[in-house]
Amino acid sequence: MPTKIEVKDLQKGFATDKGPLLVVDGVSFSVGDGEFVAIVGPSGCGKSTLMSMIAGFDRPDRGSVAIDGAERTRPSSKGILISQHGSVFPWLTVRENLMFGLEGPSRREKAELADHYAGIVGLTGFEKSYPHELSGGMVKRVELARALVVKPEILYMDEPFSALDALMNLRMRNELLRILSEERHTVLLITHDVEEAVHMADRILVLSPRPTRIQATFEVALPHPRKLTSPEVQELRVAILRELGVDRSEEGGGATLVVPSDSPATPVRSEGAPDTEVLIVGGGPAGAILGAYLARAGVDHTILDKAVHPRPHVGESLLCATTRVFREIGFLEAIERGDFVRKHGALWTHFAQERSVALPFRAIPHLGIEQPFSWHVDRSRFDDALLRHAAAQGSRVLEGAQVERVEFDEAGRALGARVRDAGGRRLLRARVVVDATGRGTLLGSQLRLKRTDPSLRQFAVHGWFEGVDRGDPETAEWIHLHVLPGTRAWAWQIPISAGVTSVGIVCEAEAFPKAGEDLDGFFASAVAGSPVLARRMAAARPLHALQREGNYSYSMERLAGDGWLLVGDAARFVDPLFSSGMSVAAESARAAAAAIREALARGDVSAAAFAGYERHLRAGLEVWRELIALYYRLPSAFLALLADPDERELLRQLMQGDVYEGGAAAGLERLRAEIARAEASAAAPTASSSGPPGSGTLSA
Ligand SMILES: Cc1cc2nc3c(=O)[nH]c(=O)nc-3n(C[C@H](O)[C@H](O)[C@H](O)COP(=O)(O)OP(=O)(O)OC[C@H]3O[C@@H](n4cnc5c(N)ncnc54)[C@H](O)[C@@H]3O)c2cc1C
Repeated sequence: MPTKIEVKDLQKGFATDKGPLLVVDGVSFSVGDGEFVAIVGPSGCGKSTLMSMIAGFDRPDRGSVAIDGAERTRPSSKGILISQHGSVFPWLTVRENLMFGLEGPSRREKAELADHYAGIVGLTGFEKSYPHELSGGMVKRVELARALVVKPEILYMDEPFSALDALMNLRMRNELLRILSEERHTVLLITHDVEEAVHMADRILVLSPRPTRIQATFEVALPHPRKLTSPEVQELRVAILRELGVDRSEEGGGATLVVPSDSPATPVRSEGAPDTEVLIVGGGPAGAILGAYLARAGVDHTILDKAVHPRPHVGESLLCATTRVFREIGFLEAIERGDFVRKHGALWTHFAQERSVALPFRAIPHLGIEQPFSWHVDRSRFDDALLRHAAAQGSRVLEGAQVERVEFDEAGRALGARVRDAGGRRLLRARVVVDATGRGTLLGSQLRLKRTDPSLRQFAVHGWFEGVDRGDPETAEWIHLHVLPGTRAWAWQIPISAGVTSVGIVCEAEAFPKAGEDLDGFFASAVAGSPVLARRMAAARPLHALQREGNYSYSMERLAGDGWLLVGDAARFVDPLFSSGMSVAAESARAAAAAIREALARGDVSAAAFAGYERHLRAGLEVWRELIALYYRLPSAFLALLADPDERELLRQLMQGDVYEGGAAAGLERLRAEIARAEASAAAPTASSSGPPGSGTLSA
């Protein structure tokens, strides 16, 4: 078989605020034409980084990739990537999605080709349906058909079916195998699911933990169709698991029920003792803080995270009021040990104004916070420390464990979650399930509670830089927010360490580059839109490729139900403007811990028991929503008020994150009045061409 893909000595690392982190370390292998090779490895080992380099989306620091003998440096039409995140356009029908990007034939021929591939993946009759009218499995089929319709020679598949439930995952695998028996493609599959690899691949490469290398290779000389329960398949699966460091006892002993992956996902009977009292899905800040509170209260619980920490994350600036939570869970010392940059204030600049508005932080005595600062954090390191802290307090933490869905009993009560890790699939039973999956919004999506916010369709692009001029030494370590020209456009500048600065540009969706368009060019022109930011960035050097985040504002119809609650971003994300995300994660975890303790003590974990939690969290979230909406209505009025020494106190309270104990109403009322006054005045500028703040000052 001639060689299709030749991977030679790939190496890749990332910058962190503590120095370089090597992720991929000297990976070499080749894939024959028409061969199906699977790569398995523990979560977080660098599988996706490796795939991204092989598919041409990312450059290695060392080594090379050749396709058909020619070195590749960028994506090409020979191969197509199918990822777990999905790639269908929600505003196009199935047929239009499949026709999108097709070159050459007439519109009629394109439509015929699209319908042919819709048929191949079993979607005949749904050609005119929109993605929101389809089930999750059907949307995956659209993605598969979109990849196949362009007749790629190579299919790069990065955990393509990991978001599907067990049954649908199995169906999609069978579908793919059937298509491959009819059409010839070379396939490179990345997965953390050993069974998936054994089911489909001709050869399996096992990766080591980070920095990842190829640790072992297994040939799968078994004919298709492969019976998953056959002794040969099971033997191979166990051998690979052993290679990954998972022994049989970890596959599902004790109280945990091992669910064969080809068994239906529902219904689930309600009997059976819980494996854990509280199951927290997601080990980011919301999940880890909730875990720490529960551990300190002696409540049995388990935290699952699909990632292996440290994992990168956006959201680096903390608010002062959140310090109360860190103090209560005993985490303040760890923060100080972590040597994170202290954030003593916020400084605003405006593209049409040379002077800036500076707001130094103050102690918040009524919350018991004496220090007039919070921190800027490298989230990979901070979240890792927080999760380890929860574990040290008594949380049972399982990483590399992805929850596929939450299960409910016949009465609609949450009774546990289906978990998939290197050992296979199982059902973990719990009295209370907490969704802390962040913007993954596991339960919100499963129960269709999620509503995007049409008034806040925002996008962001960001990265870490060296050589950023942070301006006046007095405010160099504060967060700097730069108002940019354009609707809801602004930039953040956050010092991550002595030499590294995070810079991000935010704007409305309509002004943001589409996929494939020039992101670097957009970033540069947005920076140039602010004279202050342009000066700051004049000598800046990027430390990695720019990252994008999109359309992240949403709310949920409910925040709790029978046996379940949502915390952190899983409950709602409004907007990054006032750095409220980590504060919501922390405060919701604090309130959820109190509600869960009380509910378990009373033996009532019904929706009614969590109604107080929902009310409390909604009130806080509503303050953030209104503050952000008011700011975007007229940034100049907000800055004018902030610059006025007689007025700024009310805003300081809001901007420090002190919004959960009441008392935010006065600040909001003052801002509402100021905006109404400015709008009524003939001289008032509009939001999109917002003029300079009235009285910029650099003093407190
Ligand atoms: C552009 C932008 C800038 C931001 N800037 C700031 C800022 O400066 N300050 C600030 O406070 N906030 C900021 N935020 C918000 C902040 O990032 C989030 O609010 C915060 O990370 C929420 O924490 P969380 O624990 O709820 O979710 P996350 O931190 O996202 O953690 C969720 C965890 O769940 C895991 N998970 C997901 N799905 C599953 C699953 N199915 N099974 C198992 N595990 C799963 C993930 O691996 C992850 O570790 C910003 C957000 C954006 C979009």
